[in-house]
Amino acid sequence: MKEKGWKECLWGGLIVDAGNSVLYKTGDWRSQKPIRDEKKCTDCLQCWIMCPDAAIKVKDGKVVGIDYDYCKGCGICSKVCPFDAIEMKEEGEQ
Ligand code: SF4
Ligand code: SF4
Repeated sequence: MKEKGWKECLWGGLIVDAGNSVLYKTGDWRSQKPIRDEKKCTDCLQCWIMCPDAAIKVKDGKVVGIDYDYCKGCGICSKVCPFDAIEMKEEGEQ
């Protein structure tokens, strides 16, 4: 199949194909890593709501982990946690 030239592409199609973000494991951009203390966590889900990368994993209304394949280490989860249950650590420190 002949590839399209840029003049034949749709706007937006020049940048990305829709729905391909799961193919890019952006966790390797991270320099700081969120570590959740299960004992402090009350499963209020503020971190889940606010995480821009949907990297907080929830099952049956409870936090079950952080998806480090996609977490970019922005620290928002740590900032919004009302119980100081998430600490940001230097990548590789833990
Ligand atoms: S550090 Fe940022 S990307 Fe990673 S889990 Fe927390 S809010 Fe999501
Ligand atoms: S914001 Fe804090 S207490 Fe609430 S679910 Fe996330 S880690 Fe747990």
